[in-house]
Amino acid sequence: MITFDKLSFWEKDTYTAEADFLIVGAGLVGYSTALSLRARYPHAKITILERGYLPSGASTKNAGFACFGSPSELLDDLEKMSENEVLSILQKRWDGLQILRSRLGDAAIDFQENASFELFREGEKYELEKTLSQIDFLNSFVEQAIGTKNTFEKVTPQLFPFGGVAGVLKNNYEGQIHTGKMMQKLYQLVISNNINVLFNISVTHWEDTDTMVNIFTNHGLLKTKKLMICTNGLVTNMIPSLPVQPARAQVLITKPLDKLNWKGTFHYDKGYYYFRNINNRILLGGGRNLDFEGETTTAFDNTDLIQNALTDLLEQVISPKTNVEIDYFWSGIMGVGNSKAPLVESVSPSVFVGVRMGGMGVAMGSKIGEELAELVAATQP
Ligand SMILES: Cc1cc2nc3c(=O)[nH]c(=O)nc-3n(C[C@H](O)[C@H](O)[C@H](O)COP(=O)(O)OP(=O)(O)OC[C@H]3O[C@@H](n4cnc5c(N)ncnc54)[C@H](O)[C@@H]3O)c2cc1C
Repeated sequence: MITFDKLSFWEKDTYTAEADFLIVGAGLVGYSTALSLRARYPHAKITILERGYLPSGASTKNAGFACFGSPSELLDDLEKMSENEVLSILQKRWDGLQILRSRLGDAAIDFQENASFELFREGEKYELEKTLSQIDFLNSFVEQAIGTKNTFEKVTPQLFPFGGVAGVLKNNYEGQIHTGKMMQKLYQLVISNNINVLFNISVTHWEDTDTMVNIFTNHGLLKTKKLMICTNGLVTNMIPSLPVQPARAQVLITKPLDKLNWKGTFHYDKGYYYFRNINNRILLGGGRNLDFEGETTTAFDNTDLIQNALTDLLEQVISPKTNVEIDYFWSGIMGVGNSKAPLVESVSPSVFVGVRMGGMGVAMGSKIGEELAELVAATQP
């Protein structure tokens, strides 16, 4: 390994030179923060450090739902949080999606507004009726937050070939994207904005002095005037006192089916399970609620318990009449906490965090990058 002190003059004068703004984490939030800072500071030196050879957290692993909330999830949130808090999170998701789409363009990220659907199974008729009785309230609540009219409506389960489904609620304004294309397009935009991205560098800790922030990495020391930590569920390695925990999410993808006669994104069991089409494949994820403790981990593994639960759901509910073959599984690490609200705050005079994106970072990430850049800008002389 070549440590920073062994680099050439040219390398030291460019790649590792002292930054005005240094960001840890090349996920959606890190990239978005860098772009929002660039819009404010056209000539600043901005560097992003990433521990993996690819972004290695959640942003390249997720399901690509461009979503802001299913009916039962919103009702559940309203039981646990104040209306204002739920409203504010809803707005961040919606605003984030608008920034993402206008920044990257719908074609580049395969954005498709195919709507989303929440499923209620035969044994959940009570939950279905309870949710249905709140639809008018939810529609006006969402309209107040983001301006969409008649967001939710009941549709017939016969529209879909699923097994044992008693009711379906549609969200007319949710969509889906291609996660890999989103992250590649963001990277291209970052590079074309003269932002320096260094992969394979792990930050271990930092020190905020009066004049500078020292950043200690596995390759040596770097310096910056302001440090932004955008490592989501992995932030506790660097700042253990923050109320954020890693939360693994496991996913499977099927082999292409000869024919798939539905499309869109689907939520089930208050969002603990989710599935969608990717062309004629099915992506299915969830089941973290089966083992919250075991899934509080930063290890990119899959477990029998959750693989079996996902396989059963695929075969019995999603595709009961067609033979489906699972191609492979993967997992990603989210950041969660006792609140669904993200943490955007200063942890020392020149060090800031933008973390705890939960299961909705695709939606919120671009907005959180904007908020973090705004917070940092407010401290600039
Ligand atoms: C399986 C799965 C499905 C999901 N589905 C959806 C969905 O459909 N819709 C939705 O809105 N959201 C979804 N999410 C959530 C969403 O992906 C995340 O909220 C979002 O990607 C978080 O982005 P981020 O930039 O904050 O974090 P990350 O993408 O995790 O980025 C953090 C980066 O920091 C790097 N890093 C960490 N520690 C260090 C260190 N010490 N030094 C250097 N680099 C470091 C990591 O390698 C990583 O690349 C899903 C998540 C998962 C895992």
